[in-house]
Amino acid sequence: MFFDTHCHLDTPPFDADRDAVLARAHAAGVTRCLNPSYDLASSRRAAVLSALRDDVWAAVGIHPNNIDHLNKYCLCEIEQLSQQPRVVAIGEIGLDYHWNTFPRQQQIDGFVRQLQLAQRLHLPVIIHCRDAYDDTLDILSEFKIENEKLKIGDTSNSQFSILLHSFAGNSQQAELALERGYYLGIGGPVTYPKNESLREIVRDMPLDRLLLETDAPYLSPQKYRGKRNEPSYLPLIAERIAQIRGISVAELGAATTQNACRLMGLVVSDA
Ligand SMILES: [Zn+2]
Repeated sequence: MFFDTHCHLDTPPFDADRDAVLARAHAAGVTRCLNPSYDLASSRRAAVLSALRDDVWAAVGIHPNNIDHLNKYCLCEIEQLSQQPRVVAIGEIGLDYHWNTFPRQQQIDGFVRQLQLAQRLHLPVIIHCRDAYDDTLDILSEFKIENEKLKIGDTSNSQFSILLHSFAGNSQQAELALERGYYLGIGGPVTYPKNESLREIVRDMPLDRLLLETDAPYLSPQKYRGKRNEPSYLPLIAERIAQIRGISVAELGAATTQNACRLMGLVVSDA
């Protein structure tokens, strides 16, 4: 029923109870998860997890806050990992001008190299962006990420397989991204009392570009704020979005799951 398009299941906070976390997710109707990566070790772990479980897919890549890891050997291993059948995207990659762990130019260079890889491999990309939407959208405008698996009868804009995860830009940036056919990942922040501007974007955006995510173990929805987040909390996010848009949770679940499968080139019945 639900697809959590961004949860870091491979990370240490889930080492003690990963199977129980996924069992609770299933019980809550969250039957599919995409595990993105942030460095080479997490890329390896995500790839292994996706190979072991038929409800988890993986994205591999180097997060801007770890971009010093990126060299040609690392890029080569990312490419190798991406050849595994259940590794379906490159990510999370992008720019983080909030933490500025590394100089902007270094972040941009690493981002571009991974976008070039995704473009060459025809893999969708999961974008991390914090306080850097203008530069991110500028850089992305030079890339056309074609997902070859999508030739299966899909139509408008499907060639732009780009997901802006945990979207936190303003309405103009959202408009530009949507015009280009990007997907926006929406998670816990949509439930935060002060986040009226995000709720307006979520209310007005086309349903076929909306993806659900928890970003577990981070960004818990309001009810669990400050605690570890997990995929079974995704319905809390879905309920809020369904309410904002005036549709049923079931309709939202079906549409967003279909969107996630389209982005990743999965046949809906895969899971
Ligand atoms: Zn993340």
